[in-house]
Amino acid sequence: MNMNLFDIIYDGQAQYQKRAEEAVAKVVAEKGKEAAVKFPGTAYALPCIYAITGEKITNVGELEKALELAKEKVHRTPYLQDALDAGTASAMFAEIIEAVKFVYDEVPYAGRKVEDINAEGLNTGADRYLGNLTDAEIRSFGVALVTQDIPGVAVIIGEAKDSETLANIVKDYQGKGLLTFMVGKVIDQAVEQNIKMGIDLRVIPLGYEIESVIHVISVALRASLIFGATTPGDFLKHRTYTKDRVKAFVNVFGPWDNKIIAAGAAAIELGFPPTTETYINEVPTLLINQPDYEKVVATSLEARNIKIKVTEIDCPVAVSSAFEGERVRKDTMFAEFGGNRTESWELVTTGDLAEIEDHKITVIGPDIDENLEEGKVVRLPLGVKVEVAGKAMQKDFETVLERRIHYFMNYVEGAMHVGQRNIVWIRLTKEAFEKGFRLKHIGEVLYAKMRDEFDKVVDKCQVTIYTNPEDVKRIGEELVKPIYAERDERMDALTDESVDEFYTCLLCQSFAPSHVCIVTPERLGLCGAVSWLDAKATKELDPTGPNQPVVKGEAIDEKLGRWASVDEAVATNSQGAVEQVTLYSILEDPMTSCGCFECICGIMPEANGVIIVNREFGDTSPVGMTFGELASMTGGGVQTPGFMGHGRFLIGSKKFMAAEGGLTRIVWMPKELKDDVAERLNKAVKEMTGIENFSDMVCDETIANDSEGVLEFLESKGHPALGMDPIM
Ligand code: SF4
Ligand code: ZN
Repeated sequence: MNMNLFDIIYDGQAQYQKRAEEAVAKVVAEKGKEAAVKFPGTAYALPCIYAITGEKITNVGELEKALELAKEKVHRTPYLQDALDAGTASAMFAEIIEAVKFVYDEVPYAGRKVEDINAEGLNTGADRYLGNLTDAEIRSFGVALVTQDIPGVAVIIGEAKDSETLANIVKDYQGKGLLTFMVGKVIDQAVEQNIKMGIDLRVIPLGYEIESVIHVISVALRASLIFGATTPGDFLKHRTYTKDRVKAFVNVFGPWDNKIIAAGAAAIELGFPPTTETYINEVPTLLINQPDYEKVVATSLEARNIKIKVTEIDCPVAVSSAFEGERVRKDTMFAEFGGNRTESWELVTTGDLAEIEDHKITVIGPDIDENLEEGKVVRLPLGVKVEVAGKAMQKDFETVLERRIHYFMNYVEGAMHVGQRNIVWIRLTKEAFEKGFRLKHIGEVLYAKMRDEFDKVVDKCQVTIYTNPEDVKRIGEELVKPIYAERDERMDALTDESVDEFYTCLLCQSFAPSHVCIVTPERLGLCGAVSWLDAKATKELDPTGPNQPVVKGEAIDEKLGRWASVDEAVATNSQGAVEQVTLYSILEDPMTSCGCFECICGIMPEANGVIIVNREFGDTSPVGMTFGELASMTGGGVQTPGFMGHGRFLIGSKKFMAAEGGLTRIVWMPKELKDDVAERLNKAVKEMTGIENFSDMVCDETIANDSEGVLEFLESKGHPALGMDPIM
């Protein structure tokens, strides 16, 4: 780098500083030093400043201190590190500027409604630009990031030469599954080209002002805080974390200005190389000039060593994990299957290698372009039978493959798939139909994905799709239901006692380096995505991969769920960070959490039990903390007795904190979660204690949300936890 570039960075930094100082002076004068400063939905105060300095800024008065901390980073020398520090200072000033916006207005960004966040924890309501992302939103990316389902993060800044070019680049990233953040006029260009945007679609407009780029820097640093358990203030460690583990990069389109370049310096410091369209300077691997729009994507992926696996699929619409969260609403819907209106089911079975014809796709019954009635939604029954065969295929893997149908179908741009088995509900958009999507393409997608993802066990695959009402009904009754029933029986019999091996899951180590999940039949991974059968199948697919068997042997303590073999596996795989875990206790050496858990449970001492909060719940729980605040107490592979991240499915397992008395310790859950788990929970509690409809005794936010109210309710119901041994 030459001095010229440094001067540009120092000038950009000075501009941020001036604006931040003015903003703070104004807000101090107008709102007073006591006024609260916060971004919605985060337990990490102003996350960047917190990660960089260790200081939690919570009110206007403290913003003055934040200014001083940022200024301490500025030295204006001809040395590279000082120029990069000026980038870091710029990021801090930008965060101050953004934070002040939130003091004046709870919703400084259009389309971002606070209600949306509170109601669901995750924001889906945004149509234009978003500003801050919540902790819950970041956590929700966790599993996708570790499985490389999201292979990288693109940050696009500025204005492309025309909107079509921009759209092609965004679609390219989206088609590859990347998360794309946008800052500046590129947002309008994407809107102009009807690019569907939102967190669910992995295309996230942040804001028009360059300062809004801080919200993606905040995502990277919070990943380090949440998943990496990196100490706030240890900026060197945070930088190492983001550089090694967050595969982000920046594309600057159009002319740059000094502020953009100062922000670029901040990005470089975190390990995120910017490419610029307009030449400024080139620093190999750090700052790249790429004027050719055709090459931007390839150059960027290469700069971060992001490798994309391509599967050729014969399908007229895009197929990418980025479309997984897409919803198909009534007004855009062309066809609908199942969802209580028509019969529908899906099934994966194992066939004989000699009898299965690979890539045979058959549609029996009317297709969606037949019997069309003007303006009317096409509604058909649907049976999808996927038959696979392979030398290494096991019957037990059928359910693993079958559950993937949900994801594969959702990858289709313009398709929505909800549910599983014979409660599936599928919608297709008019747009997909117009592009030529027909029923056989469902077969093509399932075929390609099954062969691709399960290549080690699936040597042949054929798909048959039924749409005649008689066929769907008859095959459903005669073939499908008996198979479901048989599987249920097998699953019920599958207990921790009935198997010889548990499995490790190390997937999340790419983000939480010392975290190890131990997956057992009765305790699935805390992300909710990895069951014992999944782990077993993964071991088969990828013998040296993230799921390795732990041969159980004799238990040291059956009640706590302590095994020498498990301790050894955890100690080895956490590189000594964790030496002992129990599988059935939340007080004594509980399993660690990475950060992507679906739920978290925590002790409510006065109720002699635990509360459980799921990620989607945005309000404060009866222990005075939100999901995000509870979650911030644990994570990053650290043991925190009294708190434990877990999957939804664990609520209903007889092993749920069995050492402390089990499921009847649950005293409060958000209503949505309670309804979701009620059936399994009630069945398990009844079998264990004889209590009927236990879920009716569990309080929720519609009944009471404060300690006193909860206790009153528990007493009125005679909740069993009140009579159990003291929990602490
Ligand atoms: Fe991560 Fe555990 Fe889920 Fe594996 S099972 S993906 S380690 S949370
Ligand atoms: Zn995880």
